[in-house]
Amino acid sequence: MTRIVILGAGAMGLAAAQRAVTLGAEVELIEADREPGGMAAHLDLAGVSIERFYHFVCKSDAPTFALLRELGLPDAMRWVPTSMAYFMRGGLHRWGDPLSLLRFPHLSWTAKFRTGLQMFLTTRQNDFASIERLTARQWIEVGSGREVYETLWKRLLGLKFYEHADHVSASWIATRVRRIGRSRRSIFQEELGYIEGGSQTLVDALMQDITAKGGRVALGEPAAQVLTEDGRVTGVRTAAGRDVAADHVISTVPTPLIPRLVPDLPEALLAQYAAIENIGVCCVLLRLRRRVTPHFWVNIVDDEIPIPGIIEFSNLRPAAGEDAIVYVPYYMPVTQPRWSWSDEELIAESLACIARVNPAITRADLVEARVGRLRHAQPVCGPNFLDTLPPVRTPITGLQIADTCFYYPEDRGIAESVRLGREMAEHACG
Ligand SMILES: Cc1cc2nc3c(=O)[nH]c(=O)nc-3n(C[C@H](O)[C@H](O)[C@H](O)COP(=O)(O)OP(=O)(O)OC[C@H]3O[C@@H](n4cnc5c(N)ncnc54)[C@H](O)[C@@H]3O)c2cc1C
Repeated sequence: MTRIVILGAGAMGLAAAQRAVTLGAEVELIEADREPGGMAAHLDLAGVSIERFYHFVCKSDAPTFALLRELGLPDAMRWVPTSMAYFMRGGLHRWGDPLSLLRFPHLSWTAKFRTGLQMFLTTRQNDFASIERLTARQWIEVGSGREVYETLWKRLLGLKFYEHADHVSASWIATRVRRIGRSRRSIFQEELGYIEGGSQTLVDALMQDITAKGGRVALGEPAAQVLTEDGRVTGVRTAAGRDVAADHVISTVPTPLIPRLVPDLPEALLAQYAAIENIGVCCVLLRLRRRVTPHFWVNIVDDEIPIPGIIEFSNLRPAAGEDAIVYVPYYMPVTQPRWSWSDEELIAESLACIARVNPAITRADLVEARVGRLRHAQPVCGPNFLDTLPPVRTPITGLQIADTCFYYPEDRGIAESVRLGREMAEHACG
């Protein structure tokens, strides 16, 4: 029987493990955290089980739907008409459909026409190879004009990527635009989804299936080193000093960790992994007694508000009855001063930002707040990013390595992690 060790029990590692046990392999899944789920894991927010980081589903997330069906959860998806808006110059303006575009007060008619056309064509395009050499800024300025870039995009990209903002690739942004743009009921109505019970439902079902089929899961036990002999993988040593023998190893941990984990890889490859830039996230999650806006997603463009937006998750999934659930993601390079702010400082600033959007919100509306932190939250993918990536199937026989940037130009997403995890398992099972 093929022995496969999988590193990381996020969506990719869980999907790989589930596929491998289903195909008859002997599987051990090794996870550093005490809970499975990775970026998709839940926490408890005043009695509500909710994602540490917001998670919505789009209609194109086919690998997730197929997996839910396979796990006996064919009816787990819920679809909701949702909306987004821009908060700009003191006002909240709906965005994302033709009527909102016509009514938007802060763009000229030419800019509205150009950006409407560019976004429409982007949702229709299947392949972005023709813009692969461009940055997001160049693509937007060529397609929609400088006014659109300056008004709608510059601050959002700046507050997420900071010094990397002008290096983000056009096809990565275009793929994001397309994924959301295609998740619609009609041209006038966006429709997003969630899994009933949240992403934990999928994590629990995967864990259950893996263990029911004989797979082992070691939680709270980080992998320390991938062991090799004569150019072949032989197993994994954990931080607890335990050696697990393997014919194949599939690593799904963030690739910046690879040079330490697999020092036996060729120098040139190690340098490639080390060169993959990631930004971190401190994601403030608030439960409030009062709704902030009617929108799921609000982009904020205001020099005095130091966040790029809020996600009012309860406008998608009303997980806490009448209470609002709001995420305030602070993406940033970990060299930024805010990275070392305390939870209390981030929560206080988030509340102040929310109160700028809806002045009726006060500290008295806060039921509970938590902060989720991730050092490797978002790879920074520049133009021609694929040319810089090492291959998933490494020169060490039996060793496959990937993380969320290996499905570029798609952005991080559960569906893509599931697809790639399954693909790696199928390759290992031959
Ligand atoms: C703020 C935020 C919002 C998001 N929103 C959405 C969304 O709306 N919709 C969507 O589909 N996706 C969203 N995503 C992305 C989605 O969560 C990810 O694409 C997906 O969960 C990634 O799964 P993964 O298994 O590839 O990686 P991860 O979840 O990062 O899993 C990697 C695992 O490796 C473990 N690990 C690290 N080091 C070691 C070690 N040494 N040994 C063993 N294990 C180790 C980690 O603990 C982790 O569990 C979001 C992500 C973030 C951060």
